[in-house]
Amino acid sequence: MCHQHSSKSVYQEKGYNSLVCPECGLLFCNPLPDIETINWEMDSHSDPFYKLSSYYKARWLNKKIGKNMILLEVGSGNGHQLHAFAQFGYEVFGLEPNYLRLGYMKNIYKIMGYQGFIETFDFNSKKFDVIFHVDLLAHFPDPFLSIEQMKKALKQNGYISFEVGVVGGISSYWYRLFPLGLPQHRWLYSEKSLAKLLQKAQLQVIHKTTHSLVPYLLIGKVVNFALLSVMMRLVSPLIGKHASIFFKINSAISNFLRYKLGRYFPKVGPLTILYITKPI
Ligand SMILES: [Zn+2]
Repeated sequence: MCHQHSSKSVYQEKGYNSLVCPECGLLFCNPLPDIETINWEMDSHSDPFYKLSSYYKARWLNKKIGKNMILLEVGSGNGHQLHAFAQFGYEVFGLEPNYLRLGYMKNIYKIMGYQGFIETFDFNSKKFDVIFHVDLLAHFPDPFLSIEQMKKALKQNGYISFEVGVVGGISSYWYRLFPLGLPQHRWLYSEKSLAKLLQKAQLQVIHKTTHSLVPYLLIGKVVNFALLSVMMRLVSPLIGKHASIFFKINSAISNFLRYKLGRYFPKVGPLTILYITKPI
């Protein structure tokens, strides 16, 4: 973005490095992975995790911009987030490359989805009031291009809303605590680099709410470990049967730490931010 070269590596994973832009603090994956290297079906969060946080995000958007709008989620997965938006009165559509997930969404939630990628998809003059996405800015091969494509599918006065993790521009000490997810995460933003991207894409921030990931990353790790040990000791013969309960408890705690506690925690270290923006 800044057309700067960098050789300052702050993190390594799976043979890839995170280099830091000296200008804006963006972390970029080096070497940049080929499209073929990235398995877009891989997902590091569990299904119940997305389910729980989807209600929180839908309520937030609804509170800020109202309902009765046509909403598209890019990367709609199994449709939990769209289902939550539908419950808040949005007319919802999904765009998702994985046809199995599209099928799940259609069967379970009766929600219609398009199969494809935002970079190349043709909506056939269909336009949306809101385009929403979660954690995709780190994955898009060219985030600027993806945003441009979204803007083309947006109605006049429409909104682009998204969640993005901010792990750049902080002490590299934090990266010892959790994996950054290379090479799937091509770009990891600092607040400065994010502002720069939005400025380049001519998106104006209307609302934003910031959550610290510190409780989630630190307490979550301990809770996860404790729960797992209990499971192992008490119910190891039944672990297959009860694994889903473990996941549910774990997801509920993760969700609380990330969005409830994280919202009121001091904004230090890694963050996750919800944005509502509008084309200028
Ligand atoms: Zn930069």
